[in-house]
Amino acid sequence: MRRKEFVKYGSMVMGVLLLLVLGACQSSNSESSAETEAAQKPVIVQGPMPIEAEEFAQKLDDVKEETSGSFVFYKGTLDGYPVIVTKTGKGMENTAAATAIAIEKYEPLAIINQGTSGGHDADLNVFDIVLGKRTVNIGSLKTANKEKGEGIDPTIWKPMDLMASEGSAGEDPDAENIRYYDGNQELLSSANAVKDTYTKGKIVEGTIGSADVWNNEVDRINWFHEKYGTSVEEMEGAAAAQIASAYDVPFLGIRVLSNNKVNDGQYNPDTAAANQEYVYEVVKHYISKSSNE
Ligand code: SAH
Repeated sequence: MRRKEFVKYGSMVMGVLLLLVLGACQSSNSESSAETEAAQKPVIVQGPMPIEAEEFAQKLDDVKEETSGSFVFYKGTLDGYPVIVTKTGKGMENTAAATAIAIEKYEPLAIINQGTSGGHDADLNVFDIVLGKRTVNIGSLKTANKEKGEGIDPTIWKPMDLMASEGSAGEDPDAENIRYYDGNQELLSSANAVKDTYTKGKIVEGTIGSADVWNNEVDRINWFHEKYGTSVEEMEGAAAAQIASAYDVPFLGIRVLSNNKVNDGQYNPDTAAANQEYVYEVVKHYISKSSNE
């Protein structure tokens, strides 16, 4: 009798202990994964066209693909850290929307917008890379006042800052300014720190101009270069910078020259992959800094 009871109570005690141990394991597991999630906000890397995003996405581990509208998010890890590559599609509208969705959905640590661009500076060649110390919308313009028959005169158009106030930008003289978005210093310093890994051209800090326009008139390109200080033009950076700034998310544009009309640099699509290889090094450096903080 006694022995039976002992065995019975003994196994009950063991059972309770086992449950306690299992419970403790589970709760410590869920606590630690919640902690890592909170500590590890993803870095977002945006690219407009397939050739500007898919190369990077293929370098990630454990990729899960999510879509929202026409935007594709490749959620994976790099050195164990969460990184989300976004294929935004071309142009300002796609990019603004893909940026806002990414911020709302994934609460990123930082956003890098990267891809190809056209040179505005004769000292820059195809395969050179511009780090966006500043990014600016070069499609946001106010024309002069002219009556019927007085023609069109783009060289006297003025910049228009749509963020200057909530009132009418058409009437507001304070809105006749160029709005620059500064590149984030931490991201810039990571980009500078890994410059030597890039051997296909030089890397400079500069100004990235964006609009849904492809400029092929050299005089117009020079006008932007002189008036806005643009190093390159593309169709996305300023849209992402504006939305990132609205949410206070660190941002940097990184653009390789795929063409340069001012020094006859012919379009080369291979530049898109070269840029992604370099941006991969930038992200690696940035997350190693962030994880050690
Ligand atoms: N090559 C295509 C156009 C691609 S659209 C054609 O000629 O029809 C332009 C894409 O490339 C955008 O995503 C933009 O960011 C980038 N781009 C590269 N060079 C550019 C340039 N000179 N002007 C504007 N966008 C440029």
